[in-house]
Amino acid sequence: MHPHVEKILLDENHINERVRQLGQQITQDYQGESILMVGILKGAMIFLADLVRHIEVTTFFDFMAVSSYGAGTISSGVVRILKDLDKSIEGKHVIIVEDIVDTGLTLRYMVENMKSRGPASLKICTLLDKPDRRKVEVPIDYNGFSIPDEFVVGYGLDYNERYRNLPYIAVLKPEIYKG
Ligand code: 5GP
Ligand code: MG
Ligand code: MG
Repeated sequence: MHPHVEKILLDENHINERVRQLGQQITQDYQGESILMVGILKGAMIFLADLVRHIEVTTFFDFMAVSSYGAGTISSGVVRILKDLDKSIEGKHVIIVEDIVDTGLTLRYMVENMKSRGPASLKICTLLDKPDRRKVEVPIDYNGFSIPDEFVVGYGLDYNERYRNLPYIAVLKPEIYKG
């Protein structure tokens, strides 16, 4: 275990098993279609990479980078597009892939933004959900795990850009968050 980690919330096996289930579910739901997975950088990168390997229908991916958080752990409520999609999503079956839904502000923005581009359908897939902190309602179609209100890192999620490479989802020791 990494020395900065206080506790592991979800270990590798647990995550792998659930990601495999989500891939199977998506495969069933999109029989005969093709999917465009839109990953939200950078947090959803590892989740998307693992998830698509369990999807057995034709799958494309594209990425968007947005910023909603500053350097710390407090939501600013401001969403900025740092990198837009490469191609049009008009007429496509789109799944937005997120790392975590917290207040829901980022996702609400993404959903409105994507809808205005005329996809054939739009669904949301998130690895983690922190329902206790929700400020705006967003419809989540595929959720990996609901977790308590704690700031987590690993499996793509960062604290000040660190810890994304941890293979599990963990909470850091309090002294690390204080910086
Ligand atoms: P929301 O707009 O839903 O409040 O926040 C969404 C974004 O905030 C997530 O995509 C993620 O980047 C970041 N975020 C929210 N909660 C956490 C957390 O517990 N850990 C980390 N590393 N990022 C989080
Ligand atoms: Mg995110
Ligand atoms: Mg972050």
